Amino acid sequence: MGTYINQNLLNNLFYILSSIFVYYFIYDHGKFWKENSRQSQWLFIACTGFSLLLCMKFPIYIADNCIHDLRQIPFLIGTLYGGGIAGGALLFILLIVRSIFYGFQFLTVVVYVTMFIVAALVSPAFQRLNRTSKLYTSVCLTFFLAVLTTGIAIAISDFQVTQSYIVDFILIPPFGMLFVVYIMETLKEAIIMRSKLIKVEKMEIVSQLAASISHEVRNPLTVVKGFIQLMKSQSVPKETQDEYMHIALEEIHRAETIINDYLTFAKPSTNKTEPLMVDQELCYVIHMLQPIAQMNGIKIEEKLQPGSIIGNAQHFRQCFLNLMKNSIEAMPNGGILTVSSTVQENGIIITVQDTGIGMTKEQISRFGEPYFSTKEKGTGLGSMVAVKLIETMNGTWQIQSEVGHGTLTTIMFPKA
Ligand code: ADP
Ligand code: MG
Repeated sequence: MGTYINQNLLNNLFYILSSIFVYYFIYDHGKFWKENSRQSQWLFIACTGFSLLLCMKFPIYIADNCIHDLRQIPFLIGTLYGGGIAGGALLFILLIVRSIFYGFQFLTVVVYVTMFIVAALVSPAFQRLNRTSKLYTSVCLTFFLAVLTTGIAIAISDFQVTQSYIVDFILIPPFGMLFVVYIMETLKEAIIMRSKLIKVEKMEIVSQLAASISHEVRNPLTVVKGFIQLMKSQSVPKETQDEYMHIALEEIHRAETIINDYLTFAKPSTNKTEPLMVDQELCYVIHMLQPIAQMNGIKIEEKLQPGSIIGNAQHFRQCFLNLMKNSIEAMPNGGILTVSSTVQENGIIITVQDTGIGMTKEQISRFGEPYFSTKEKGTGLGSMVAVKLIETMNGTWQIQSEVGHGTLTTIMFPKA
């Protein structure tokens, strides 16, 4: 018993499991691997290949013409998950290492070439299976291959099947496969789930915004509806009618402002992200605001460096429209609005600066809070929308402001 269930067996299992963890650890911690599937396949081959090598270097048990170790586990895992190319590379490593450590043996070549062919053929179908089927398939396939190759070995040579051979080569590997496939599937699922969650969270922010704003628009509409019904149902005097009309118009105006703060650029089904040239997008917004600025005696200065970020064009424009509009509204007696973009090593910095009324410490801390407004007809939605949209584009922001001197908003986005 001690010869075939011993510390070396546990070590073999440990090498295999470690290589899987190392692979997923590296894969999960670098964007590079997720974007370059070919390189990540080589990483996978390197990890499984290394555990293959360790299993062979420190086998469970060495018999006269047979080395007992768990090498078929990393070999089959690599071939099933990685396909023919990975399997071929592992087969190459296996045969070379075997020859160097223990001498060339024809039987080894036959056994592992057989395993390689079967596993490589099964691989494409295997990769499409769900988790449970993968578990069953890998266990059955490992068992089947062990029995098949043993049969071949007996047929072509005077191979002795010993008790320890049955345990180490035929019975233990299927269980090993079960553990390894289970762990691989669990790790893979965790990585996929996490990246999905981040996407869902971002969509959530945008849909929450839409929900809260449609709620806000409904209130003035209800008021307008009420007054119009009043005017219709009763014979109201002309004066009261005028008053009702005035209120209704005010409310419609309010609904319009709310929509402007959120939906100026909204078109249906555009949550897609793309590379954006920040200088062009900012120019577009500046151009839009030029008439209002002129009307208020405001000069707009642009210092735009070209650079690109990843984001949604409509979100980007809405965000800066809201920020610049606030700056314009902060300069009722004219002033200078400066918009700049600077490309840096690790990101793009955009600043919006005005020479307006400025903000107190309390106002700065409440910037971005929904419905916080110091304006008589303000909505308090503009800054909230801007802040949320910056966050969905992975940006960060910062405000410096002094009452009576002006405000400087700095936004930083990661480079595309
Ligand atoms: P609104 O513009 O409808 O008031 P916002 O959410 O856009 O709502 O802005 C919230 C508040 O933040 C404003 O009422 C104003 O007090 C303050 N604020 C935002 N930007 C500036 C700025 N550039 N200068 C001075 N105050 C600002
Ligand atoms: Mg505003």
